[in-house]
Amino acid sequence: MPPKIGFPMTLTYFTQFPLWKTFFTELGFEFVTSQPTNKLILNNGIKETVTDACIPIKLFHGHVIALKNKVDYIFIPRMVNIDKEKHITFCPKFLGLPDMIRASISNLPPILEVSLDKKNQGKLFLYKACRLLGRQLGKPYNKVFQAYLKAVRFQKKFEDFLVSKKITPVEAIDYFFRNKGNGIKKVINRGNSLKNDENDLNIAVVGYPYQIYDSYVSADIINFLRKRNVRVWTLEMIPSSLLKRYARRLPKKLFWHFSNKVVWASYHFIEQPFIDGIIHVSAFGCGPDAMVGKLVELECKERKFPFLNITIDEHTGEAGIVTRIEAFIDMLRYRRTA
Ligand code: SF4
Repeated sequence: MPPKIGFPMTLTYFTQFPLWKTFFTELGFEFVTSQPTNKLILNNGIKETVTDACIPIKLFHGHVIALKNKVDYIFIPRMVNIDKEKHITFCPKFLGLPDMIRASISNLPPILEVSLDKKNQGKLFLYKACRLLGRQLGKPYNKVFQAYLKAVRFQKKFEDFLVSKKITPVEAIDYFFRNKGNGIKKVINRGNSLKNDENDLNIAVVGYPYQIYDSYVSADIINFLRKRNVRVWTLEMIPSSLLKRYARRLPKKLFWHFSNKVVWASYHFIEQPFIDGIIHVSAFGCGPDAMVGKLVELECKERKFPFLNITIDEHTGEAGIVTRIEAFIDMLRYRRTA
């Protein structure tokens, strides 16, 4: 049996799972994830995390607890800088994540930790991170290099697939890795191409990937909208070259990687004539998100564009979210006919 490396199904899972799954599998490990978020994971996370942490960080703790007795290692990348601009980084909770986990949770298997830091490591930062991981795991250089190449190629294929098929990362992961049979093939083939009848709304759901794609904490907002015949658009469906053009709208880029993407994507969606409104999903207790939400809200206000903010914390009830979204949908449909 190959040794198992565990990867929590939250935070960077939604953006980097294909990369790391390919890399570690090529090196001969079994790369496993925790289960999708559930009540137990959330409650365990809340118990073990400092009280003022945001819900995604509490969840991360819960996912680590879910994995800790089932794997030989837990993989926690330290996200520092992956953008061209050196000042763009990740929030302090991402920067200190491996340390926070070590300090809060006891009896952990070894944590595989590596910094993704383009600012200090240069353009080859990802290769250097993989080389370091290979060294920690005692793998020969050649094998690590081949695994790295394969992983980077697959990650690119995955990202292109999201853009071309207009699907979410969760659906693409199901398609490539989880063998979900015909159900997922139907989703891929359908993409976002619902029939364009009059009642068919287009809504952009913006927010950090670990919030909007975690169906438990977000009250499964994406599927909820789809069941009401709404086409859902998210930032991963926009080509990154197009997304970056919207950076020029602000005098300066924000300091945080995901925050920039959310703001640029919102600016893009506001300009698309077929988009009826934007829902911003934010985390209670998130400093960067408070600013992102305000920027998007102000832009929507100026352009008279429908906007709804949903703030989530561990006490947010599904009923409250659902009621607000239903009201938003009704308002958009009314606006179309008015
Ligand atoms: S960016 Fe906000 S939501 Fe994300 S980890 Fe940091 S504080 Fe939490």
